[in-house]
Amino acid sequence: MQRIGNLGIIALVILTIIVWLVFPPEYDGRANFERQYAGEIIGSINIVLMATALFLSTRPKWAEKYFGGLDKMYITHRQVATTAFLLIFVHVLTVPISLTGWALGNYLAVIAFTGIVVIVLNSLAPRIAFLNKLTGGTYEGWKKLKKYIGVFFILGFIHSLTIGKPLHAFIAINWVQIFFIIGTVSYLYTEIFGRFFKKYVPYSVEAVKHPNQSTTEVTLRAKTDSIPTHRAGQFLFVRFTSNKTLNESHPFTISSAPHEDVLRVTVKASGDFTHALFSNLQAGMDAVVEGAYGLFDYKTGGQKQIWIAGGIGLTPFLSFIRDMNGSLQQDIDFYYTVRHAEEALFLDEIEAAAKKNPRLKAHVRFSSRDGSLNVDDIVKNAGGSVQAHHIYMCGPLPMVQAFEKKFLALDVPAENIHFEEFNFR
Ligand SMILES: Cc1cc2nc3c(=O)[nH]c(=O)nc-3n(C[C@H](O)[C@H](O)[C@H](O)COP(=O)(O)OP(=O)(O)OC[C@H]3O[C@@H](n4cnc5c(N)ncnc54)[C@H](O)[C@@H]3O)c2cc1C
Repeated sequence: MQRIGNLGIIALVILTIIVWLVFPPEYDGRANFERQYAGEIIGSINIVLMATALFLSTRPKWAEKYFGGLDKMYITHRQVATTAFLLIFVHVLTVPISLTGWALGNYLAVIAFTGIVVIVLNSLAPRIAFLNKLTGGTYEGWKKLKKYIGVFFILGFIHSLTIGKPLHAFIAINWVQIFFIIGTVSYLYTEIFGRFFKKYVPYSVEAVKHPNQSTTEVTLRAKTDSIPTHRAGQFLFVRFTSNKTLNESHPFTISSAPHEDVLRVTVKASGDFTHALFSNLQAGMDAVVEGAYGLFDYKTGGQKQIWIAGGIGLTPFLSFIRDMNGSLQQDIDFYYTVRHAEEALFLDEIEAAAKKNPRLKAHVRFSSRDGSLNVDDIVKNAGGSVQAHHIYMCGPLPMVQAFEKKFLALDVPAENIHFEEFNFR
């Protein structure tokens, strides 16, 4: 089920190629007809992929189950957008370009191409060191710039209709037009009218605690009775409207249990917003919450489980253990790893949960003292084999990726490996 979304996108691309091949354009005797034809197919795939990326940006809650959660939808969004970006170059290199006799569409192509390249390079910057240095961009700066991607998408489509000699391919062009409409409506939904459909719930900050030198635990109480329900392990988007710097929507896991009458989030100071939250957030401030999202849920996994939390990746597991009532159905080895003892959070609660739920075995590891957590220890504690286990992970991306690789090498089926992605860029 969780792969249907990605397979669906691949199917749309294949279908686009089929539509162009089954309903080819009329040959009108022009030179370079084949190159123009191939270029149009690539351009159409581009429109389909960009429309899909814009659609995924609308955060459709109903589609989460087809992608494995909103965090995974963002991964797909990133991959789709990157593929579309690369295809723009293939399109430009394929279509025959003449430097004379330009029509409106040619100028629009240059504008759309430049806009998209600038925005995409900026969004790839955190992953490519030299680009990061070059742009020096913050997440908010990137988000502001990214707002314009839809404008360039629209210009890119209009370009295809207004070039000097478009191909006569009625059905294929209409097929692509459907995606132009989907992409444009999605873009307008994200930037303009989506706010009238999403549920933004007013909360107030009831308490602010600092369990260590870099972490803030925020307790939020709803100001209204009609609040959406959530499952343990889900996340929300929150902004604090009383403070200008904190009035930015950021995703955080709900670290409290669903039965509590408040919401709690536990936030590590890692960048501008989260440092400002650590320093400036105070009880009594107003907040607006949207969500909950996510499908990270151990209750849907098998009977034998391994949980791995690295650093602030503890938060979904915190929600899991706060939700336990002593009648745990699964056998769980829970590894919580931090560098130094001072960084460890809520150890007393983890120990208490393990005492109350004998099937939960907690292993806390301070890597500066005990060395890094390694897969051999995990396999040993699991009785020598992990093939039948469901693995749940949340933590720094390199850690999660390294473990994923090792578990796959140990023949753990890919569908048994679950992780929460804390990075939306
Ligand atoms: C599903 C999910 C659950 C999360 N749960 C927690 C949690 O329980 N506790 C916790 O401490 N952190 C959590 N995070 C991470 C948290 O959202 C980021 O650390 C925070 O937004 C960083 O903002 P910053 O301005 O301080 O840092 P920056 O240095 O500006 O950003 C660092 C990175 O954080 C991400 N990020 C920044 N701003 C946003 C934003 N507005 N929306 C989305 N992503 C953003 C980007 O990947 C960015 O590259 C979670 C993230 C996700 C996606």
